[in-house]
Amino acid sequence: MPKPVFIDEDACDGCSICYSTFGCPAIGVKPGGKAFIHNELCNGNGSCIQVCPVQAIKRPAPAKAPAGSPTGGVKEQG
Ligand code: SF4
Repeated sequence: MPKPVFIDEDACDGCSICYSTFGCPAIGVKPGGKAFIHNELCNGNGSCIQVCPVQAIKRPAPAKAPAGSPTGGVKEQG
């Protein structure tokens, strides 16, 4: 299963689109209105990334491949 997404708190302006309109149960709201991710509920599909108008919902960087692996430590696309 993909890793949970995360919220960049500096970028989030608390517009509420992700937790009110989009309505994923894995997205919660902090006092003050900024969003956060319930990691235990997030399936990592990333559909919420599209709804944030300020790109505050992000995917964690992929783990680096070990040296000598088929990808040779080169960052994978997608
Ligand atoms: S849609 Fe983006 S800016 Fe709006 S509350 Fe969610 S994470 Fe924050």
